[in-house]
Amino acid sequence: MCGVFSVYLPKSCQDAAKMTYFGLYSLQHRGQESAGIAASNGENIMVYKDLGLVSQVFNEISLSSLPGHLAIGHTRYSTTGGLKWQNAQPTLGNTAFGTIALAHNGNLVNSAELSKILLERYGDVQSGELANGNTTDTALITALLTGNLLKAALGYGETLLSTAHEILPLLKGAFSLVFMDEKRIYAARDRQGLRPLVVGKIGESGYVIASENAALDIVGATFLREVEPGELIMIDDDGLHSSRFAEAKRSGCVFEYVYLARPDAHIFGRAVHEARVEMGRALAREFPCDADIVIPVPESGTPAAVGFAKESGIPFAQGLTKNSYVGRTFIQPTDTLRRVGIRLKLNPLKSVIAGKKLVVVDDSIVRGNTQKALVKMLKDSGAKEVHIRISSPPVKYPCYYGIDFAKYDELIANNMSLDLIRETLGADSLGYLSIESMAKATNRDISTLCLACFNGKYPVKFSTADVSDKYLLEGGNL
Ligand code: SF4
Repeated sequence: MCGVFSVYLPKSCQDAAKMTYFGLYSLQHRGQESAGIAASNGENIMVYKDLGLVSQVFNEISLSSLPGHLAIGHTRYSTTGGLKWQNAQPTLGNTAFGTIALAHNGNLVNSAELSKILLERYGDVQSGELANGNTTDTALITALLTGNLLKAALGYGETLLSTAHEILPLLKGAFSLVFMDEKRIYAARDRQGLRPLVVGKIGESGYVIASENAALDIVGATFLREVEPGELIMIDDDGLHSSRFAEAKRSGCVFEYVYLARPDAHIFGRAVHEARVEMGRALAREFPCDADIVIPVPESGTPAAVGFAKESGIPFAQGLTKNSYVGRTFIQPTDTLRRVGIRLKLNPLKSVIAGKKLVVVDDSIVRGNTQKALVKMLKDSGAKEVHIRISSPPVKYPCYYGIDFAKYDELIANNMSLDLIRETLGADSLGYLSIESMAKATNRDISTLCLACFNGKYPVKFSTADVSDKYLLEGGNL
C-alpha cells in the first residue's frame, strides 16, 4: 500500500505543495498512518510530515511553508518499520551536492542484503535518516542513493540519474518510487510493476506522477500512460526523459483489482470497477444461492455485489450503513484497533434485513475478524440466513510486497478447511471466487499477474530472514 504523488510545474507556479495535498487526499485510502510533502523552489527542499490523515497533518499554514514548483508527497501504510514519526515519508538525504527527498509505495524483500551493501560500500549502515531512528526500507533506499552521491565527483543532476541507475537494480521486491532533488522529479517502478504508478500531463508543460489515476483527475491532469515496469523517469525544464534500469517482467498485484485501488482507477487499461462487477458475476455463477436480497459489505464489496445481483437476478439492497469517517479496517496496524474499527464502521439496517435470507458479498477474507463480527451483527438484527460470498479466492499465503498480512497464522484460510471457516464465521454457507475467474475479470493474461497470496507462487524470490520481520531495521536487529 501507501500512496505516492509528485508534480512538476512551470517555475511561475509555486503551488506544487498545494496540488500535492489534493493529490494525497485522493490517495488517502492507500495509507492512513502518516502523510508528508517535500517541495522545492529550485533552490531548497522543504519537507513537512507527521502522523495522521492528510487532513490532520496539513493546513493552510503548513502548506504555505512549502513554496515551490516541484513536490512529492506520501500517505503511509506500514509494512517495514513501525508506526512512529521518524518513519513518516518523504525521507530526506543530504550530499555534498544538495538534498534528495524520496517516497515509496511497496515493500523490499532484500533489506538485510541492502544493509550489508550499505555497510560494505560506505562503512556505516546508520546513515541519513537511518541514524535518526527511521527503520523503513525507504530510508535504506535513500541512504544508498545519497551514499553513492557522497562518493560521486560529478555535478548533482546527472549524478542522481546515474546513481539511480546503479542503485535501483539492487532493490528486490515492490517499489513505486517518486523522488526529487532541488531541480528535478524522478519516478521509478520495479520490473514486475507490482504496485501501480501512472504519469499525467498538466497544463502546457507540467507533469504529475501518482499511484492511481484518480489523483490525476483531482488536480486536473490528463492521463498519459503508466510508468513502465523497470522504467526510470526524470522530469526537468526540458520535459520528461525516460530510461530503463531493468527489463520488464510484468507481475502486477491482482489484489489492487480486488480491493486496494479505488474503483475509479484504471490498471493496465482495465477499469477497476468493471473488474469488480465481473468478479461478482462470476461468483454468482460459481456459487449460486437461494436468497431474498444481495447486500454488499460497503464499500469495496459493492461493485461485486452489484455483479452478483445482476447475474443471479436476486434484488440488490443496502443492508449495512457505513460510517465513512472510519478508515479501512484491515489496514489499521494492530488487531485491537482493527476490532474497534469494525464495530465503529458498520451498522445493519434492521428494516432491510430482518426476516430475510441474505447473500452478503465482500471482496476478501484475510483474518476473518470483520466477517465474523458481521455475521453475528446481521443475525442479531433478525436476518434469517447469512450466506457469505467472497469475490476473490482464499488468502492462504502472506504478502511480502506491500500488504501487511505477513504471517501465516494471521490468515484464516491458511490452516482451515472451507467448512471450518464457514463454521468459524457462523455463516449458513460460504463461497470464494476461483483464481481463474478472478484473473479473467482483470482482462489480463494470468501470467502477467502476481497471485502469490492465493497460490503461493512468489514472482520475486526472497530469503525468509529478510521478510519474516516487519521490524527488521529496528535498532540492533541487523
Ligand atoms: S502477494 Fe497478493 S497482495 Fe501481495 S502483491 Fe501478490 S497478489 Fe498482491
